[in-house]
Amino acid sequence: MKSTKDIAVLLDEPACEHNKKEKSGCAKPKPGASAGGCAFDGAQIALLPIADVAHIVHGPIACAGSSWDNRGTRSSGATLYRIGMTTDLTEQDIVMGRAEKRLFHAIKQAIDTYAPPAVFIYNTCVPALIGDDINAVCKSAQERWGVPVVPIDSAGFYGTKNLGNRIAGDAMVNHVIGTRDPDPLPEADRSNFPAVSANFKVHDVNLVGEYNIAGEFWHVLPLLDELGLRILCTLSGDARFREVQTMHKAEVNMMVCSKAMVNVARKLNQQYGTPWFEGSFYGITDTSQSLRDFAKALKDDDLTARTEALILREETQIRTELEPWKERLKGKRVLLFTGGVKSWSVISALQDLGMVVVATGTKKSTEEDKARIRELMGEDTVMIDDGSPKALLKIVHDYKADILIAGGRNMYTALKAKVPFLDINQEREFGYEGYRGMLELVRQLALTIESPVWEAVRAPAPWKVKPQSAVRTTPEEYA
Ligand code: SF4
Repeated sequence: MKSTKDIAVLLDEPACEHNKKEKSGCAKPKPGASAGGCAFDGAQIALLPIADVAHIVHGPIACAGSSWDNRGTRSSGATLYRIGMTTDLTEQDIVMGRAEKRLFHAIKQAIDTYAPPAVFIYNTCVPALIGDDINAVCKSAQERWGVPVVPIDSAGFYGTKNLGNRIAGDAMVNHVIGTRDPDPLPEADRSNFPAVSANFKVHDVNLVGEYNIAGEFWHVLPLLDELGLRILCTLSGDARFREVQTMHKAEVNMMVCSKAMVNVARKLNQQYGTPWFEGSFYGITDTSQSLRDFAKALKDDDLTARTEALILREETQIRTELEPWKERLKGKRVLLFTGGVKSWSVISALQDLGMVVVATGTKKSTEEDKARIRELMGEDTVMIDDGSPKALLKIVHDYKADILIAGGRNMYTALKAKVPFLDINQEREFGYEGYRGMLELVRQLALTIESPVWEAVRAPAPWKVKPQSAVRTTPEEYA
């Protein structure tokens, strides 16, 4: 079990902007603040997209229940990550002191049944409270079966989902990254890798905090291939265990959209000297900026020139394709309620489309995020901290928003109030990253705002407008 000191160190993340505001690191959660998930939930969702690993939740079955397959993350091959595995601890196991034994057997069963390249063990509240030594169990299972077994000590009561993300990142840095070198670029790949066949220098890079929701990273990957940027690993969307092992060899790391695993980028910088930058692939402007930032961090003039040429080609093409859609969306007013860094990256994407963002949620945003939002939207911008249904609907009404863009949990708030709604969080079905993603985003925005259902549901109910004489009440009138 983690000590209070271990948790304090994780909370006190020097690369996190919250630290500049609150000296002691992230603020302690207030009652209700962890409604978005516990530390275990945060750790599991951060690592679950590593597709070929057996993910075992050590705890009562309910812990595993709400997290399994709850993100729209996609894999290009392995599907083992979609199988929910748990030690399913019961009262009997706890009273009889056999929880560790169950864990040991669960690891054996996973290895015997699926032969995974690694097994990840997530600790939850109950085994942490009864003092199970998951590190020792993992070590002895690894020695016994010769398969890496990684302990992720993420008991829910340690703190919030955000802390869980960091615990997950920490486990990768401590147990996985640096245990294998990347493969040389195989001959077979060369014909599919335009930069190599054209004899450009290939650079190895990582993406941290990219989850490949709805397969959206596949909009960006071909561009990186074309530029000669080989992705050693995306932590963790569509990742494989053997890719995570090689992350220490990248020349540069990009923190994609979320500061959740910023400790990974910082530690790789400290331990291996890998520079990192923060970027986003949402919107034309930010996608182009991220590609430029890669070239800048890699200090390769030829790459810079090729990046500019690629940006020009892609921007010209996408702007032409977006033109007919922009006409339909121009001037539409949006209330954006999404957490953290996504606020500013999505604002930029919406402004690219000529839409007006009337207010944005900043509950999880850092001071730096807020400064960027002000830069994009002006000093008088409305920033919302209160995400209660009542407060959101009041803003929709006061600012005459045409659509609410938010996470899935706000869906029913919007729909019950007959307000068009678009899901922007991890459960969504559509990918919005990169230049191609913008086309999907405009399509979804236009379809949502223009749907005839809004007119129908906002119209008065027929029985309220029908003259009373036309309403049939007796069986004779129906005859
Ligand atoms: S708070 Fe504890 S018991 Fe509840 S889901 Fe999280 S790990 Fe499980």
